[in-house]
Amino acid sequence: MSWIFAIPAFLSLAALTSCVSSEAATPVEAPAETAAETPDVTAVEQTSPAPLPSLPQVGPAQNTRFSFTGEMTQGGFIRGMAPDGTVQASLGENKLELAEDGSFFAAFDRDSDGSGALTATLNNGQVVREELIITPREWQIQRVNIARRPGGSSAAFRARRQPELDAIWDARQMKTGATGWTQQFIWPVKGRISGLFGRQRIYRGEPGGYHSGIDIAPGNGVPFVAPADGVVVLARTGFSLEGGLIIVDHGGGLNSAFLHASQIVVEEGQTVRQGQHIGNVGSTGRATGPHLHWSLKWHLARLDPLLFVGPMN
Ligand SMILES: [Zn+2]
Repeated sequence: MSWIFAIPAFLSLAALTSCVSSEAATPVEAPAETAAETPDVTAVEQTSPAPLPSLPQVGPAQNTRFSFTGEMTQGGFIRGMAPDGTVQASLGENKLELAEDGSFFAAFDRDSDGSGALTATLNNGQVVREELIITPREWQIQRVNIARRPGGSSAAFRARRQPELDAIWDARQMKTGATGWTQQFIWPVKGRISGLFGRQRIYRGEPGGYHSGIDIAPGNGVPFVAPADGVVVLARTGFSLEGGLIIVDHGGGLNSAFLHASQIVVEEGQTVRQGQHIGNVGSTGRATGPHLHWSLKWHLARLDPLLFVGPMN
């Protein structure tokens, strides 16, 4: 089996317009290899009646280990298949949402510490464990000689913010059974990349939050689409930081958030298809200019959208 360690060298940096950063998350995962048995082909010269070769017994193939492919790197993800007979599987602390055929999605946080393990409990009680090595990435870090903004937010802001955070949290807990996680994602909109995932400022040695998504600035009012199939679990305007916010569940524990929308054309509970128009780019909430901030999360792990879509053509 093969898996790819892609460090997106194709990224060119641009900065500015920007938004909301985030806290940290969790990491995990790894690959497997199965050895194929080479049949023993011994040619035998026979005199008279040549015996009929006996056919090998062909039974159902047994997958006794995890198999998967993907980006084994910080902010990356894998898709794979759990061992046969798996009743429960996890990546670190995160339970995998297994499809009926045993397929799954799993991902590694931006700050993954480099190791993790896939574990499966089988129906015979056996536990299969697969150690993973997650390669580190080089993030865009800017060291500035100014103090981090002192003080916290006001009580008034916190009172407004908490219900927003609760709504976002609740939306992300919804399991809709969507299968968009199996698809090759597409860009929700194309345009200048004005902010990369993972970018971070260090204020006199004190790290600020990192940029939790990718910013795309195609211009105000430009329509954007669902990058993969899913179900809209949140679609509301007026969030203090996010402005017009859409969250789409892609199933498998994976969801997308789209921030600063000037218009939202879908409703909560609506099923959307890859490529379907869901909103328009704007600068609502805390934004310095019109752009789409697109972020991806798997459980608490924050992921790099670029690893899902590849370079923009
Ligand atoms: Zn952003």
